[in-house]
Amino acid sequence: MSRRTAKKQQEERGKLLAELGTLSRLLHGSWVERYSVCARENCKCRSGERHGPRRYLVVNEEGRQRQKYVANAQVQVALEGLAQYRRLREIVERITQINLTVMKEAEL
Ligand SMILES: [Zn+2]
Repeated sequence: MSRRTAKKQQEERGKLLAELGTLSRLLHGSWVERYSVCARENCKCRSGERHGPRRYLVVNEEGRQRQKYVANAQVQVALEGLAQYRRLREIVERITQINLTVMKEAEL
């Protein structure tokens, strides 16, 4: 790897590390949407038009899966949080590749 390439990768890593600091609303979990049938006998939900969706975020708490209800007003924020988590993962993978390259260089 040339010095120029090394410098470029260091710059890229610096940018990625800075971007990590912007992912403050990240959420790690899976998205679940549920439709339900209520107790009222003559409700439209009994003929297929079920209530919902009600959204939940399934998160891990001390090794246990927990479903957290997401209010309608928070749906956008929650989806953005999930997107930020995906970006976090991408950044981690990219920095891993850069650091592996740097380690390889150091061997030579
Ligand atoms: Zn109903």
